[in-house]
Amino acid sequence: MSPIGNGNFERRAGQKQATRRRTLSRLLTCASRSLAKTVASHRSLRDELIVPHGEHVQLSKTDAAATFGYTKASAAPEMERDLERLTDLQERLWAEGRRRVLIVLQGIDTAGKGGTIEHVMGAFNPQGCHVHGFKVPTPDELAHDYLWRVHPHVPRNGEISIFDRSHYEQVLVVRVAELEPEARWRKHYEQINAFEQLLVDEGTTILKFFLLIDRDEQRERLQARLDDPSKRWKFRMADLDARAQWDRYLEAYEDLLERCSTKAAPWFIVPSNHKWFRNLAVAQIVADALDELKPAFPGPVEPIPPDLRIE
Ligand code: AMP
Ligand code: MG
Repeated sequence: MSPIGNGNFERRAGQKQATRRRTLSRLLTCASRSLAKTVASHRSLRDELIVPHGEHVQLSKTDAAATFGYTKASAAPEMERDLERLTDLQERLWAEGRRRVLIVLQGIDTAGKGGTIEHVMGAFNPQGCHVHGFKVPTPDELAHDYLWRVHPHVPRNGEISIFDRSHYEQVLVVRVAELEPEARWRKHYEQINAFEQLLVDEGTTILKFFLLIDRDEQRERLQARLDDPSKRWKFRMADLDARAQWDRYLEAYEDLLERCSTKAAPWFIVPSNHKWFRNLAVAQIVADALDELKPAFPGPVEPIPPDLRIE
C-alpha cells in the first residue's frame, strides 16, 4: 500500500469519523433540545384549564380523560414537589395571617371531591384549614336567603377554606330538580358573582374547580361503591336520579361556567377520569396561586434584644 494511498485512506477515515461524530453530536443536541421543548411545552395547567370569562364550553365534547402530555410516572415527582409547595405556602399564609383563600370543589357524584380533599388538601396543616360540605339545606337554612348558610364558612385571615359542593348547587340541583322557579334561580348567577366579588375585594383569593368525569367512568365508580362494602355508605339511590339527568346537569354546568368564571373568581375544568391527573392539576393550580400571593413569615411581634439568650 502506498503511503499516500494509506495516508488518504486514513485521512478519509478520520474525516468520516469526524463527520460521524459531528452528526451524532448534532443529533444529540437536537434530541436534547426537543426533550427540553417537550418539558417546556407543558403550559401551566392553570392556563390550560381556566375557563375564560364569558366563554361557552361544550362539556360533552371535553375529554374527561385528558392528561395534557403527562403520564402517571411523569406526574408523580411533580406531584410530590407540588405537595411540598402547598405545605410550605400554607404555613406562610397562616403565619402571615393577612390573606384568605377559598377553594370550591364541584362535580357530579363520584367525580372525586372527597379524593381531592384527601390527596391534595392533605398537604395542609389542619390548623388554618377548614373543610365544609354543603348538604341538602335544613329547614332553618331554607328559611333564609341561600347565601346565609354559606357566608359563615368563608375563610378568615390566614385561613384556607375548602367547599365540598357550594352555593353553586343553587344553579345545579336547584335548577335540574326544579326546586325553585326559573325566574328565581336565573338571578342567582349575578348574585353569586357579586357575592364572590365582595369576598375578593375584602382580601380573599377564590379558585373554583369543576371535576369532570364521563358517564362510563361514573358507572364504574358507582358500581364500585355497590360492590365494595367499605364504599357502600357513600351510595344514595338519589345518585341514580342525578345520573338519569346527566345531560341536564352538563347543561347547568355549562351555564354556570360561562356566567360565573370571572377574573376575580375563575373556574377551572379538571379532567378527572384519571385521579392522578385530577390531583396534579388541582395541586399545581392551588400552589401556583398561593405562590403568587408571596405569603411571608412575619417578623417578631415586638423588639427582641440582639443579645437575648434563653437561660
Ligand atoms: P353528598 O355531597 O354526596 O354528601 O350529597 C349532598 C347532597 O346535598 C347532594 O345530593 C346535593 O345535591 C345536595 N345539596 C347540596 N346543596 C343543596 C341545595 N342548595 N339544595 C338542594 N340540595 C342540595
Ligand atoms: Mg353523594
